[in-house]
Amino acid sequence: MPESIADPIHTLRTVFGYDGFRGQQQQVIDTVLAGGDALVLMPTGGGKSLCYQIPSLLRDGVGIVVSPLIALMQDQVQALRQLGVRAAALNSSLSYQEGGALQAQLAAGEIDILYVAPERLMMEQTLAWLARTQVALFAIDEAHCVSQWGHAFRPEYMQLSVLHERFPHVPRIALTATADQLTIDEMVVRLHLEDAQQFIAGFDRPNIRYTITEKSNPKAQLLGFINREHADDAGIVYCLSRRKTDDIAAWLCQQGKRALPYHAGMTQGDRQRNQSRFIREDGIIIVATVAFGMGIDKPDVRFVAHLDLPSTIEAYYQETGRAGRDGAPADAWMAYGLQDVIMRRQMVEQSDADDARKQVERRKLDAMLALCEVIGCRRQQMLAYFGDQLDHACGNCDTCLTPPQTWDASEAVQKALSCIYRTGQRFGVNHLIDVLLGKENERIGQLGHDRVSTFGIGRELSATQWRALFRQIVARGLVMVDDEYGGLKLNANSRPVLMGEQTVTLRQAVKKERVSSSRAAKRSGVVEWQRPEDVALWEALRQCRKQLSEEQGVPSYVVFHDATLRQMVEMRPQDLIAFAAISGVGEQKLDRYGAAFLQVIVGAL
Ligand code: ADP
Ligand code: ZN
Repeated sequence: MPESIADPIHTLRTVFGYDGFRGQQQQVIDTVLAGGDALVLMPTGGGKSLCYQIPSLLRDGVGIVVSPLIALMQDQVQALRQLGVRAAALNSSLSYQEGGALQAQLAAGEIDILYVAPERLMMEQTLAWLARTQVALFAIDEAHCVSQWGHAFRPEYMQLSVLHERFPHVPRIALTATADQLTIDEMVVRLHLEDAQQFIAGFDRPNIRYTITEKSNPKAQLLGFINREHADDAGIVYCLSRRKTDDIAAWLCQQGKRALPYHAGMTQGDRQRNQSRFIREDGIIIVATVAFGMGIDKPDVRFVAHLDLPSTIEAYYQETGRAGRDGAPADAWMAYGLQDVIMRRQMVEQSDADDARKQVERRKLDAMLALCEVIGCRRQQMLAYFGDQLDHACGNCDTCLTPPQTWDASEAVQKALSCIYRTGQRFGVNHLIDVLLGKENERIGQLGHDRVSTFGIGRELSATQWRALFRQIVARGLVMVDDEYGGLKLNANSRPVLMGEQTVTLRQAVKKERVSSSRAAKRSGVVEWQRPEDVALWEALRQCRKQLSEEQGVPSYVVFHDATLRQMVEMRPQDLIAFAAISGVGEQKLDRYGAAFLQVIVGAL
């Protein structure tokens, strides 16, 4: 390639159709182009792929990308081919003939970027072939898979240190979105990246709006949220159990949504089919257990909803992180209540883990609960957990947008604690609330709880307010949950409150969320278009994209992202020159799709 166009920004514009680099992309690319190693930590959606794709195109030889997931590889290859990049994947799904054809192309220097599964790369045969080949770089994607302590450990990744030994002059770039300092240190050692330049971006995902709402009627709340904010959008709904997953998916379908379940109890075939529909079709909602998500890099997931509480902030961050990879606004929404707190506390206590492990799990759960109950900015609190400092409230989370009301609940909490004590420290919340409210029922009579001193001392609050109070004191660890029956007991933290030595400020219980909204269904995609002609054009463009993507058997976002369509609506280009100026339109896509979309735009006027 002549010097003059071996220029990253030129490639960014002509091939990818983007105007400028984001974050540290440029520095990473310069490092690798100059032959240096790089270790890149960027959050999901940060734009890691370009960091190795552009150097692969600009350096002589083929860029080898190690990627743990075959499904993901194929998506990336498809997307690159749409851009006119000569990309291919080498993995076990290739037939013998396909493998042979690929070998020939590689030998002829006709491939710029080759995705390889780690076990395939480590085969002696592959390594021998590499030794005879001009390699532009090695990119090790999802590099945290090398960490034995992480959740995604892949033994094959351990062997990747061989690359450094056998190909000392080929630059290597390791990339990940999930790494704390320990994992980073481990990556450096295991992959021999001591000399690599480190590019560490923060964890923040500014386009994701975090909302954690009090659970009252979760199904109706979920539907209300979807209808209000994401009527036609793709999203993921996480549930804890398989049964609930099936149930919620079926119920959403009855409500007119296109929802599909996904969990480990389904056959491989059914799972695969639902996942593939989610990726390929527009606006599908997948209702899943945590089994779903690894390796989903669908960029236009507009929301992730949780109907059950994740056990750690790490899990919450990772699951919600699947929303909005394309950088456009997205929602992380959760409904959370007293039962979640009690159940998670019980799960920790009942687990088979040893004491040290349990201690860690308790701390992690405490942090997750604190995030749920936080009064200040949620994003700040979450980033602080990862060691990131955000020095201002974010303005894009529920607590920033609607600051919660607080109240001095010291006296009420004392009543609750004392009620737990007077009834013998073995009853659950419902019974305790009945006693506090002075309910006359059979059970209370039998137990003689109408004669304890706390009977009826809590009539100033409603049952809902008491539930919110109990949720918060359990979440804060001011009382303990019995691991078997969920009864509440006092602990060391209860004492100072009971003695009046410590005040307790709690969140005010919110009034019931409106579950239906007049705004319902007005929103389409990411934007709320004001003018009817914009809505019409947006729909027509989506239709055009759908048709083109079906013709080629690729997901619709591979044709154009939502953000690109949105610009078409805003700018209404009238000719190919104007069309080419839209972000996401590179030379290939201009050739391929320019005319079709222009016709829609011009026709719409
Ligand atoms: P990651 O792998 O870090 O999660 P990707 O590489 O998949 O992120 O990029 C996320 C999205 O952002 C992709 O849709 C990509 O096309 C887009 N993107 C990346 N870099 C840029 C850029 N410089 N300008 C515009 N869009 C970009
Ligand atoms: Zn905030």
